[in-house]
Amino acid sequence: MRIICLGPPGIGKGTQAKQMQQRLGVPHIDTGEIFREHAVKGTPLGLKGKSYTDRGDLVPDQLVTEVVMERLRAVDCVRGFLLDGFPRTIPQCEALDTFLFGIGLSIDIVVEYTAPIELIIQRLSGRRVCRQCGRNFHTVFKPSVAGQNCDCCGGTLFQRQDDMPEAIKQRLVVFEKQTLGVASFYGKRGALVTLSGAGTVEEVFARTTDALNKIGRDKVQVS
Ligand code: AMP
Repeated sequence: MRIICLGPPGIGKGTQAKQMQQRLGVPHIDTGEIFREHAVKGTPLGLKGKSYTDRGDLVPDQLVTEVVMERLRAVDCVRGFLLDGFPRTIPQCEALDTFLFGIGLSIDIVVEYTAPIELIIQRLSGRRVCRQCGRNFHTVFKPSVAGQNCDCCGGTLFQRQDDMPEAIKQRLVVFEKQTLGVASFYGKRGALVTLSGAGTVEEVFARTTDALNKIGRDKVQVS
């Protein structure tokens, strides 16, 4: 199955995608994570991307598209994939279409998550990440029992540069300007399912599996 997870930053689509990955057994391709990993390693891609990601701006289409297409050519994507954070602009949607069309494939479903802006800001500003194992915590919704350290591996928790207030503002502006149109792009072809991203991880995942189970039978708006 080939799936796209859409939604504003902080909505929790990455968490949902990880759960879907376990259920479906297809790779989870998270473009934000790819750029963060390259930045930590100091690769040319990481250095190029960092100036954009730290500010909350989008990395140029050509750069991100090349990265994703290369990843999609890998053998583990033959049975399907879950795209998280891509496409984020119409040119990225078109590039993905061209790539998939060229190999006789298409996207099966686009799952879009929505939530009130206040909830998104609260989720982003309270997010803390373990420097060692990458696990996500939240100061209010999912605090670590080990305080400033990860309760799984003991690593230090930190706040991502792009979760700082100025960058959050910019990411939300960018989302509205450049990414909102992506949902309509797929909506026009009947591949879009819009779900509420509010509630617990389990509640949102129940909505997600329900929607995934429905595709093939009917492609309605599930909320
Ligand atoms: P995320 O973790 O998905 O919010 O992504 C973090 C950052 O990586 C974004 O704010 C962008 O700077 C960059 N990024 C991730 N995916 C894309 C994309 N599809 N197009 C452009 N920039 C991206």
